[in-house]
Amino acid sequence: MFKGIGVSPGVVVGPIRKVLAEKASGPVPADIDQVLKALESVATDLDKSAESIELEVAKEVLGAQAMMARDPSVIEVLEGAITEGVAFDVRPIVEEAFGGFKEQLLALGGYFAERVSDIDEIQSRLINKLAGIESAGLTLTEPTVVVAEDLTPADTAALNLKFALALLCSRGGATSHTAIVARGLGIPAIVGCEGVMQLVDGAVVLVDGRNGDVIVDPLQDEIATRTEKELKIKARADSITGPGRLSDGTSIQLLGNAGTIDDVRAAVKVGAEGIGLFRTELLFLDSHIEPTVGEQVKLYSEVFQLMAGKKVVIRTLDAGSDKPVPYINAIHEENPALGVRGWRLTRTSNDVINRQLEALAEAAAGKDVKLWVMAPMVNTPDEARDFAGRVRKLGMLMPGVMIETPAAALHADHVLAEVEFGSFGTNDLTQYVMASDRMDSRLSDMTTAWHPAVLRAISIASDSAAKISKPVGVCGEAAANSLLAAVLVGLGVSSLSMAPSALAEVRGFLASIDLDTCERAAQAALSARSASEAESRAREILEG
Ligand code: PEP
Ligand code: MG
Repeated sequence: MFKGIGVSPGVVVGPIRKVLAEKASGPVPADIDQVLKALESVATDLDKSAESIELEVAKEVLGAQAMMARDPSVIEVLEGAITEGVAFDVRPIVEEAFGGFKEQLLALGGYFAERVSDIDEIQSRLINKLAGIESAGLTLTEPTVVVAEDLTPADTAALNLKFALALLCSRGGATSHTAIVARGLGIPAIVGCEGVMQLVDGAVVLVDGRNGDVIVDPLQDEIATRTEKELKIKARADSITGPGRLSDGTSIQLLGNAGTIDDVRAAVKVGAEGIGLFRTELLFLDSHIEPTVGEQVKLYSEVFQLMAGKKVVIRTLDAGSDKPVPYINAIHEENPALGVRGWRLTRTSNDVINRQLEALAEAAAGKDVKLWVMAPMVNTPDEARDFAGRVRKLGMLMPGVMIETPAAALHADHVLAEVEFGSFGTNDLTQYVMASDRMDSRLSDMTTAWHPAVLRAISIASDSAAKISKPVGVCGEAAANSLLAAVLVGLGVSSLSMAPSALAEVRGFLASIDLDTCERAAQAALSARSASEAESRAREILEG
């Protein structure tokens, strides 16, 4: 059995085929004409792949790769370095030519740093081409579990994914292409699954994309149990509609997380009761300069219109750390996760935040919407007071804060006293409580909100909130996991906001349990020794 990070749910069984990256060995000699011709040919291949693949996200990445391969700055470096005849080995020159791109992406960190692999791929395609190795791709002719170190969009374009039962990668994190492509195709996928490359082609495996389990030569019993369970979860999700409720009638508001208008539409489609977290970073990332107040008003108004009459929690700009906005986070930081991000931007870009609050007030004026405004990375009561003061002054009545640092959680009685509500950002709260980078797949055993230390921080804060009658919810990834969602309810949260794709399953699960069960599961998880023990104890109580 192998264990990885389940990034797209579903249970399948089938034979594996490995996609092996072909690599030229030894020096690769070439003159400048050959290099430029090969580079154009790589770009053309990428264009063709972009045309042939239906999945929009993969299309975009392939198009961007083709553009990078044709970038004048790359060609300039190559021409400057290979001036006379044949260079003995073009490898280091190619490295240097793409080095600038890579440095920029690495400096941006997070999601962008993961895109360095897109450039590595252009380089290795170019070297392979010059060495006379054509990437053969893998033609799938029967239902197959595709196994690879990592799958690039070009790999997925070359594969006939109609026959892909599941994707399994030994590397990669939750935001890798494999995860995005698999979710888009609706097939199970597991990434960061060390050891799977040792499997031989044809080996039969069971892939459980919900739990991240890969079982070699599974027994019939195991297949039947896991498949049945998966079908039951899907059936339950399809059968329940309407607002979130436990089996005893307790209301648990179920909201959608969004960053774009498309996300808001997806939330509407699954019957979300509102938006529990609108991330505004994307609007700022889409541009080279700060979006104008007018541009912001337009976007926020569209959100309010789609969610007319409903609750919408808009979060002020959380630029920095894993979501760097180049023109705002321009100064190099040794520890960006502990640096100037979220509400701390008021120290460096105060006007940007003020303009955003103005835009929100203007967009909400006269609209039929329940606007709640939330600040990220608030750490202290003074910060909460500053934020709430600015929001109220502009006529917006529901300021709230994310509780995503240990300081905010442990001091929640004072922090929440300044505002109207709190929302646990379990992604960051986990990162900071566990002192483990949320983007580092090597630490994924520690970056889980199941850890009792994280649950205790949440418990302390929600107890404080209850004493002063301030509602608290969750808007981190944890809310999207049905079992964890139930534990969080047991700890006292009254709303859960999640990726719209997860909402139906969580709604279905919550409808099957009562508050007393949630509370017992929460107590069992709190007193566990480890994340896995917390999960298994909670599972036992919740699934009976
Ligand atoms: C979180 O930290 O849990 C959260 C919801 O915010 P983000 O993931 O945008 O940092
Ligand atoms: Mg956060």
